[in-house]
Amino acid sequence: MKKKKIKVKIIIIVLIIILLLGVIVFLLSNRKESFKESITINIGDKIPKSNDYFTKDIKVKIKWASIDNYKVNTYKGTMSYKNKDYNIKLIVKDVNPPKIEGVKDITITVGDKVDFYKDIKISDDSKDELDKKVEGKYNLKKPNTYKLKYIVKDKSNTTTKDFKLIVKKKEEVKKEKTTNNTTSSSNKTSSKGYKVEKRNGLYYVNGILIANKTYPLPSNYNPGGLLEVFTTNFNKMKNDAKRDGINLWIRSGFRSYSYQQTLYNNYAARDGKAAADTYSARPGHSEHQTGLAADINSLDQSFANTKEGKWLNNNCYKYGFIIRYTRNGQGETGYIFEPWHIRYLGTDLAKTLYNNGNWITLENYLGITSRY
Ligand SMILES: [Zn+2]
Repeated sequence: MKKKKIKVKIIIIVLIIILLLGVIVFLLSNRKESFKESITINIGDKIPKSNDYFTKDIKVKIKWASIDNYKVNTYKGTMSYKNKDYNIKLIVKDVNPPKIEGVKDITITVGDKVDFYKDIKISDDSKDELDKKVEGKYNLKKPNTYKLKYIVKDKSNTTTKDFKLIVKKKEEVKKEKTTNNTTSSSNKTSSKGYKVEKRNGLYYVNGILIANKTYPLPSNYNPGGLLEVFTTNFNKMKNDAKRDGINLWIRSGFRSYSYQQTLYNNYAARDGKAAADTYSARPGHSEHQTGLAADINSLDQSFANTKEGKWLNNNCYKYGFIIRYTRNGQGETGYIFEPWHIRYLGTDLAKTLYNNGNWITLENYLGITSRY
């Protein structure tokens, strides 16, 4: 019996010893496990070397696979301890969120474009591609104050900054538009205060029929030829000129819309539109279509220096005609000097515009433009 008891005791002791050994082995293996720890650094921090993270009495060597310490990731490495290698990890974290600097409220006028990032500085310590956007609803065409926010994200963090977008009314332009709207009705006046009217598609300024680059004639307007008032007064002038030994003749009188179209198109094809516009009217804009204008004798500026040209320049006003496109008037009339082109206006106005030989243009006198 005693021997049996002793046997049992020995077995129990052996079992306890085995158990203890197991615990020791477990603890030892656990100790090895502790080497397999992962190391965490923040983005941009130094990559740990052997001695940075282990006490001096434990000599280890660390080898990392290639690491970009500016990129959030988990990197692998090995650690050698007593000629044994252990896998370790380096976790690169991005702790700091991106920075958004220079945020302030933005004020624009209706219809303007907006550049939200013009004065904004965005920075981040990661090499991550940043995701940036402006969040919130707004309408650039609708005056209002819109509450918006910048949102910038790197792979780990989000930064938000509030701001206001103030869309203002376009006050000045609105006023102008209102003025235009009223002036386009019958109350319109020229810059010199003359009444501008549209009657049956024709423009009259201070009662004077106007055909220039700004004021066109309807394409179907066709008085059928030179008006009687033109012809009568021209013949009078022509006869008086003859007595002075001057021969005046009408080279080109009335021109219909379609004829002017052909003429202008030919000039434009020959010289280009821009050049043609300086001496030829586009269809609907020619004074010849009024029946109140004509070209006399020559279509060359040298006509001004001939005796006929000089006589016409000095006397036509007496018969109610003006030199319509004066030597220095291109900026106002829109046409080069045409010493041959006369327009009937009646003697009073013609005399005023003659201005003792220093011609005033009709546009200047009435305060109107001549521009396409
Ligand atoms: Zn002409």
